[in-house]
Formats: sequence, structure tokens, C-alpha cells
Amino acid sequence: MTEQIAVVPGDGIGQEVVPATQRILEAVGPDFEFVEAEAGDAVKEETGTALPDATRELVADSDATLFGAAGETAADVILPLRQVVDSFVNVRPARAYPGTDALRPETDLVFLRENTEGVYAGHESRLTNDVATLTRVVTESASERLAEFACEYVEERDEDGFTIAHKANVMRETDGLFRDTVDRVADVRGVPHDEVLMDAMATHLCLRPEEYGVVVCPNLAGDVLSDLAAGLVGGLGLLPSANIGPENALFEPVHGTAPDIAGEGVANPCATMFSAAMLLEHLGYDEEGQAVRGAIESVLEDGPRTPDLGGSAGTAEVTEAVLTRLS
Ligand code: ATP
Ligand code: MG
Repeated sequence: MTEQIAVVPGDGIGQEVVPATQRILEAVGPDFEFVEAEAGDAVKEETGTALPDATRELVADSDATLFGAAGETAADVILPLRQVVDSFVNVRPARAYPGTDALRPETDLVFLRENTEGVYAGHESRLTNDVATLTRVVTESASERLAEFACEYVEERDEDGFTIAHKANVMRETDGLFRDTVDRVADVRGVPHDEVLMDAMATHLCLRPEEYGVVVCPNLAGDVLSDLAAGLVGGLGLLPSANIGPENALFEPVHGTAPDIAGEGVANPCATMFSAAMLLEHLGYDEEGQAVRGAIESVLEDGPRTPDLGGSAGTAEVTEAVLTRLS
């Protein structure tokens, strides 16, 4: 079966790391048909819209999307695209690799962040000059959907279980519903799980990140804790992410357009390549995903490395090195 992969490089270093990553996907084998589309600042300048309908439709029709980054127009591009894939979970691994200068080398975490509600569902009001309010929405159905995904994620990867991060001692109704729902689903499916207050987890992550593996959390907590974990492993150039929906999914590096280095040929392609490994695994190509991951890891360990990791190689040289390891 041929799968269609939408390729949306976007702006800045997206134009460099996405084509490099497409070469990795081509090299590793599955019968993918790549279709490229535009989004971001450049296409807005040309056409007046940052997210052309053609791109939206392509992403909706594809089995998966590989996205780079968008500049000023990021919110006009990535938020609608996440809606197009109906992404209910944001998967953010944070893993320290040998050969990189991580603050906490023992870190190996994956955040499964609720992606549709919580405070980011955004019912904000300005009541008076003095008072602004925010209504936080948590539903049992969205919590259930995330919990089912988390259970499958853990089972498929033979993980020990997961930790629920929340603040149900204060937000008793909203985080209480979240916690109770995830807890119930995991009980029914027999998946081991524990829970920890999200503020305590922030401290634990700094001191003893090795105590955690898979972390399931509401939207805002997931945003903050996964950024904290990014600091533990060092280097935006290494962090992948996935937005998973019921029918399709979008994979992107955590970093943005990096305007300070864009066009210089020195962007680290590893974050996008790790995102591609997630794409492969999501589509059921586990061996190919593992192979890509292994090849990147071995290049990280032995070099060549890009300047953000203390090396002097360019994007092209690192890409060739990964391709060589793959063959
Ligand atoms: P944006 O508004 O698009 O997010 P930004 O200025 O916040 O742009 P980021 O892409 O978030 O830039 O990057 C922040 C810093 O990390 C920059 O100094 C950038 O050069 C560096 N950086 C990010 N990604 C990479 C990468 N893949 N390779 C090398 N350096 C990177
Ligand atoms: Mg940024």
C-alpha cells in the first residue's frame, strides 16, 4: 500500500531540515508518495494567506504530515493544522543522547499531552478594567481518548506504565475529572500507573528525571513540563514531536524557524529526523523507525555534529552521515 506523506517545510530552517529528513524517509524504504505544500510567512507574502486551502486539504487527505516551522505566522499555520488532523494528543519525547551535552544524561521521558482543551480551549473574558477570567474546560470524553492512547502507547512499547501529572488537589473538578478518568481507563485495561502533582513533578524532573518514563498530562501542564524536560536534555535541535489524530497525524520538530541561522546550512536536522522516526512507527513501520533512530543516535555519539552541539559540520554532512549509517 502506498501511503501519502504531506511535506510542509514552511519557513526558515524548515526549508533545510525537512528536505534533509525526506531523504532519510526515502532511503529507509516504505512505499511513500511525498507531496509538498506551502505554509507560513513566505506564502503569505506571495498570496496573502499563510495556510492555503490546498495545503489544508493535502494535510487532511494524507496519511501523515512532516512539518518544519512557520515564522511570524506560526499560530495561523500550526493551530489550524492541528485541528485539521483532529489532534487529541501531542507526543513529546525528551531523551538525552550519548555524545550530547545534556544537563541530565539519565533523562528518558515521553509526555502525552492532552491537545484540545484545558486552559488552552481559551474561554477568556475581560469583565471589568480590574478583572479578567478564564474558564477551563475538561471533558470526560477527551480524557478518555487520551487515556486509551496512553494505554496503547505503553503496551506497544513494553513500557512499565505511566504517571498522571495533575493538580487535582486544587482544581478538584477539572483535574479531578481528568485524573479519575485516566485512572479508571488504565485500571480497566490493566496498565500500571501512578500519579503525582504537577508542581512536585517539576522539582522531581530537575533532581531525578530517571524516576519517570511516560507522563500523561492536561494541556498546560504538558506544555510546561515538556519544555522543562527539553532543558534537561539540552538542545532544541534534538527534540521531536507528534500531533496524533484518529485518522492522520502531523510530525514536527519542537524548534521554530531559527532565523538567526536560517539559510546558512548549519541547522541541526536531528529533531526533524527523530520526528520522521515517530512518523514511521505511527504508520506501523517499527523496524524502519528504529533503524532511523539508531542511525541518528550513532551519528550523535560519533559525529559529525552541527554547531549547536559543539561541532562544525553542516546540515548536509550530518544528513550524509545518517544516510551512511542506514545503508
Ligand atoms: P520561532 O519564532 O520561529 O520559534 P525563534 O527565534 O524562537 O524562532 P527557535 O527556532 O525557537 O527560534 O530557536 C531558538 C534558538 O535555538 C535559536 O538560537 C536557534 O538558532 C536555535 N535552534 C533551534 N533549532 C535549531 C536547530 N535545528 N539547529 C540549530 N540550532 C537551532
Ligand atoms: Mg521559538
